[in-house]
Amino acid sequence: EHPKTSNFLRQIIEKDLAEATYAGRKWGGSPGDAAHHAAGQPDPARVRLRFPPEPNGYLHVGHAKSICLNFGLARDYGGICHLRFDDTNPEKEDTEYVDAIKDAVQWLGFDWLNNGPRGIEVNLYQASDYFDFMYRAAEYLIECGNAYVDEQSADEMRIHRGDFVKPGVNSPFRTRTPAENLARFREMRDGKLADGAAVLRAKIDMASPNINMRDPAIYRIRRAHHHNTGDKWCIYPMYTYAHPIEDALEQITHSICTLEFEDQRPFYDWLLDKLAEGQLIATPHPRQYEFARLNLTYVLTSKRKLAQLVNEKRVSGWDDPRMPTIVGLRRRGYTPEAIHLFAERIGVTKSDSWIDYSTLEGALRDTLDPIAPRAMAVLDPVKLVLTNWDEVMGAGTLDDCSAPVHPHHPEQGKREFKIGKEVWIERTDYEETPPKGFFRLFPGSKVRLKYGHVIECTGAMKDANGNVTEVLATLIPDTKSGTPGSDAVKVKGVITWVGVDDAVQAEVRLYDRLFTEAHPEADGKDFLENLNPNSLSVVTAYVEPSLASVAVGQRFQFERHGYFVTDLKDHAAGKAVFNRVTGMKDSWGK
Ligand code: ATP
Ligand code: MG
Ligand code: MG
Repeated sequence: EHPKTSNFLRQIIEKDLAEATYAGRKWGGSPGDAAHHAAGQPDPARVRLRFPPEPNGYLHVGHAKSICLNFGLARDYGGICHLRFDDTNPEKEDTEYVDAIKDAVQWLGFDWLNNGPRGIEVNLYQASDYFDFMYRAAEYLIECGNAYVDEQSADEMRIHRGDFVKPGVNSPFRTRTPAENLARFREMRDGKLADGAAVLRAKIDMASPNINMRDPAIYRIRRAHHHNTGDKWCIYPMYTYAHPIEDALEQITHSICTLEFEDQRPFYDWLLDKLAEGQLIATPHPRQYEFARLNLTYVLTSKRKLAQLVNEKRVSGWDDPRMPTIVGLRRRGYTPEAIHLFAERIGVTKSDSWIDYSTLEGALRDTLDPIAPRAMAVLDPVKLVLTNWDEVMGAGTLDDCSAPVHPHHPEQGKREFKIGKEVWIERTDYEETPPKGFFRLFPGSKVRLKYGHVIECTGAMKDANGNVTEVLATLIPDTKSGTPGSDAVKVKGVITWVGVDDAVQAEVRLYDRLFTEAHPEADGKDFLENLNPNSLSVVTAYVEPSLASVAVGQRFQFERHGYFVTDLKDHAAGKAVFNRVTGMKDSWGK
């Protein structure tokens, strides 16, 4: 079921399980602590991971990688995974995003309501529930001389921080006593200071070669309404301070994040070591491990930039089928299985690289091919008239044809459709003067109408501009697929078609890449300059009658064209709308 390709994270977890690293976890704090509530009863033997999105946008395919990784590791090692809303930054967060994130995680198969079809315990948390604890921990740091209130201006602070070559300079406020700091910090909390007038900083080392260790800010003043805590707070913890505490309170064992947080790890450990000394958190405390984020060609993986595409109406919304958001992929026709397979195939590494978009499409095809019902559709229709139909078959006659629902699953039965004097074929299947190697329709060629008869092309009718209005052919008697002797006439080409009499009209949305460049922001370019003007074309197509009344979100393989899904929003009875998920791997035979 779950191929377990080894990777460095699996090796770390296996070692920790073998050495029972967390089995002797000791508890600090009082029973009333958030520490005891956050993760329920101590359960030190199990690994605990978390996926901690900030609810400031919709999740994208990069988050999907992280979800599959964290929930997948928990599942494979009998552990638990927390879905934690990292909602410590009040300004950009919204409950709309909280709901969308829950929905995306559930859709991927990790469901906290019934412990999930993927067999893993999922718990829901929000970081803002720990604001009281975070505040108390900050007072503790102050009391021990490990934090101070700094009232330098933002500019002074930036200059004094130094840079890679220049060590930092101590703030004049750094020598305040714990009592002074405590009083001032409480004034911050009580709204006595203006926004930005002071910050609480960890007191570490202004000369550290790691700039993140040069007394990082851990609390700031910000009068902003929070979607969970309302107006209770006018000071908010910084992400770098909040995140390790969230992990510790939830007894996370392995805190997996992307590589850009590598330089934050020393502060993560510094902070948790201090809080462990004060018995505010359990020990051993969680450890942070970094992996390479997903970079996918032709795709942006930044919530902020995706938000820009939505806000500037470059796409129809977060769920536009061209968006790499989970809602977008879903509406495009991607399945959870395809995304899991993709995540498994790309694996986990410690160095950044680009994954080719075709890897995602390949995972989709490989998961859909075995299950998607087949159908015929004509996307760029032109009429084909069988000029001898009336003599051979009888005027007004329709002949029954059938095809397997799935070629490898005869038990799924057959699709039925009819052939008559007129059928729709692809415009590109006719060439008056065929290029070399063209085996479809041209005057004198013989081809098979798939699942139907062999025909011989006799030419075409054109309008005044020379555009083909009808292709003409004659039916060769006794050649219908599946009847005795039907293969007596040899043909080099087989074409797809649907009957004019029983075809269903459908809107088909042909999606292509949203960007023309594999690296939409390469060479410092604005990604908006690389938007593909042809990323969507809408056609009126004809599809076979088996698709007359399909539900929304149903996936099909349109023979030779690729995979299509009925649109989640716009498809309705009597108004069929299909999205192209992806084309076929092999281009249609010439
Ligand atoms: P964005 O930059 O798109 O806003 P983020 O990292 O700020 O993404 P968060 O909500 O903080 O978004 O991310 C939640 C989790 O998803 C984090 O643990 C982060 O490491 C992971 N994540 C985000 N983007 C990617 C990516 N491209 N590949 C792998 N993991 C990712
Ligand atoms: Mg973030
Ligand atoms: Mg980010």
